Amino acid sequence: MLHRPALTLRRRAAGWALGLLVLGTAAAHAQSALAVDEIAPGVYVHVGAVAAWGPANDGDVANVGFVVGERCVAVVDTGGSARVGERLRAAIARVTPLPVCAVINTHAHPDHLLGNAAFAGAAGAPAFVAHARLPQALAERERHYLNAVQRDFGVPAGALVYPTRTVDGEAEIELGNRTLVLRAWPTAHTNHDLTVYDRRTRTLFTGDLLFVRHMPVVDGNLRGWVAVLDELRRLDVARVVPGHGAPGTDFAAMLAPQAAYLEALLRETRAAVKAGVPIQRAVDEVGRDIAKPWALAELFHRRNVTAAYAELEWED
Ligand SMILES: [Zn+2]
Repeated sequence: MLHRPALTLRRRAAGWALGLLVLGTAAAHAQSALAVDEIAPGVYVHVGAVAAWGPANDGDVANVGFVVGERCVAVVDTGGSARVGERLRAAIARVTPLPVCAVINTHAHPDHLLGNAAFAGAAGAPAFVAHARLPQALAERERHYLNAVQRDFGVPAGALVYPTRTVDGEAEIELGNRTLVLRAWPTAHTNHDLTVYDRRTRTLFTGDLLFVRHMPVVDGNLRGWVAVLDELRRLDVARVVPGHGAPGTDFAAMLAPQAAYLEALLRETRAAVKAGVPIQRAVDEVGRDIAKPWALAELFHRRNVTAAYAELEWED
């Protein structure tokens, strides 16, 4: 009996120490974990900066997210550096102890995929899932990406993480009482765009098939992209996570500015080609007004006109 208060005190002290330790760990986590919003039950999103991919933002410019089932977690894109991938992993660990069973890449651009490294290698590594044409696209760009990482970020570029499972047409991923529907699209933003749809909440991750505020970037086929937008409009969607820019619930309104830009780019470039305007002049003249409202227009608009011109030059 006499010892009891001392014991309680000692227990209390131990409890305090443990509490501080937990607090300390939580603080470290808070610092390193990406900030995420639960935009629908079990659907978490981190919105990247609307900025150029580079060391100034640690490559954190694309939207990334994850969906939590009863058995496991699926990640949708992993961010533009291994560090962003690690911070995404920390964010997941704060939400659930469940393992990550799938890492899905919407396409091969480095700002969406370099974080894969943080999920690879360990025992029980997840399946890496992407469009059937992604492996080839990534192989073609690999050296360019690794050079950019080494040069701009000043860190040795680890190996890129390739898909272990690819999707042609449609596929489903089962997370435990929760199904994701993956769809591989014909050439649009790239030749290997993949969307992810959570059936339970009707949430669509579009990858870069949809840009909000951030200027759309044509790296596939402009006519194909305009056609894909028509199909996207018909989907039954309650909320949307674009590749860049804020998520939202009004899909039609979110698609409208991008559709207007791409359609004008198509129309004006086609007219320039038909009129025999040389490409050097076309990149200065085509779509100057339609480019203005977009963030990063100075970085991407002329490149878009160049891509459109090359595509439309050989059109019948
Ligand atoms: Zn992209």
